[in-house]
Amino acid sequence: MTRVLVLNSGSSSLRYRLFDGARVLAKGLVQRIGEAGGDAADHGAALRRLMDELDLSGLAAVGHRVVHGGDRFTASTVVDDEVLATIEELIPLAPLHNPAALTGLRVARDLLPEIPQVAVFDTAFHSTIPPEGALWAIDRGLASKWGLRRYGFHGTSHAYVSRETARLLGRPVADTNVITLHLGNGASATAVRGGRSVATSMGMTPLPGLVMGTRSGDIDPSLIFHLHRVAGMPVDEIEELLTRRSGMLGLAGDNDLRAVQERYEAGDPDATLAFEVYCRRIREYTGSYLAVLGRVDAITFTGGVGENSRPVRAKTLAGLEALGIAVDPGRNERNETIISPDGSPIAVCVVPTEEELEIASEARKAIGSAQE
Ligand code: AMP
Repeated sequence: MTRVLVLNSGSSSLRYRLFDGARVLAKGLVQRIGEAGGDAADHGAALRRLMDELDLSGLAAVGHRVVHGGDRFTASTVVDDEVLATIEELIPLAPLHNPAALTGLRVARDLLPEIPQVAVFDTAFHSTIPPEGALWAIDRGLASKWGLRRYGFHGTSHAYVSRETARLLGRPVADTNVITLHLGNGASATAVRGGRSVATSMGMTPLPGLVMGTRSGDIDPSLIFHLHRVAGMPVDEIEELLTRRSGMLGLAGDNDLRAVQERYEAGDPDATLAFEVYCRRIREYTGSYLAVLGRVDAITFTGGVGENSRPVRAKTLAGLEALGIAVDPGRNERNETIISPDGSPIAVCVVPTEEELEIASEARKAIGSAQE
């Protein structure tokens, strides 16, 4: 019983990966579910198709990615009726994401009733952030009534790459401090002390922090009042603006970092400005987390941008030699795993993230502890 099926349910998609240990036996994506000409009529039909196509014998668990666990889930959890009800209660915190995960969980429970279903939350890794890093300076009663606090996201990625970084450096996880920079379509920075998240750049939702493909990252919240009162924009439209039409798309007209980078390298002024804002924000968070951690062993880049973009890595960390941070141009260009010069006080690493693998191992851990 070493096989684990990992499911990532979107509103009209189902991404899957079947593992035997760390080995990938099958992976794929069922798309445009419920749409005319799509791959399946609904999520149930999509999963039935997988069950026909994949050899699920010896399946130990199904691991489901769930975006928001609020303050109710601090670890991966074997799903029962109560867990489903709680994930449902958390929908207001993640109205786009949690309903899709719930659909996937329900369908998998119905079709694979004998197999434990495990919910693996993007937020759980950040539950160790201390109150001073999770609370905002607002009315405490209101904040607690409405769950207004920093939860953080991309937890499976930050957990995986921070552990991998310790392994790379040959250090015990418990004695390794890492700043992890997950730079993909979504992007977040996390300060990890001894394997535990102590600060992260996303908040109650995945909107704040770093500049992303279409999300603004940090803004002055008064922009919202101003756009509403002075520009007359309804609040839903402002939300749409900040989540879908901002970030690199807003700054440069292109949400894809690789495309912006190509224009930047060709000297396009809008792309250059966007690229500079993007790198500057990552640099600000890196500096802030150096101060939070006090001692840092490594800064690790991951995600589609972090794993590939030489210019982002070089520009973000340029000129920080006095802080013990340097990027070796040759190593960076060759995309090596450690891109800092030998003997640097702070290693700079590139570690491809493996969120599905992490979900599979979390699922195994959860059924292990449920059986104890
Ligand atoms: P992810 O969400 O982790 O798949 O990352 C997607 C982002 O990575 C997109 O903005 C891509 O443009 C960016 N990306 C992928 N490959 C490269 C590359 N070689 N150079 C720069 N950005 C890249």
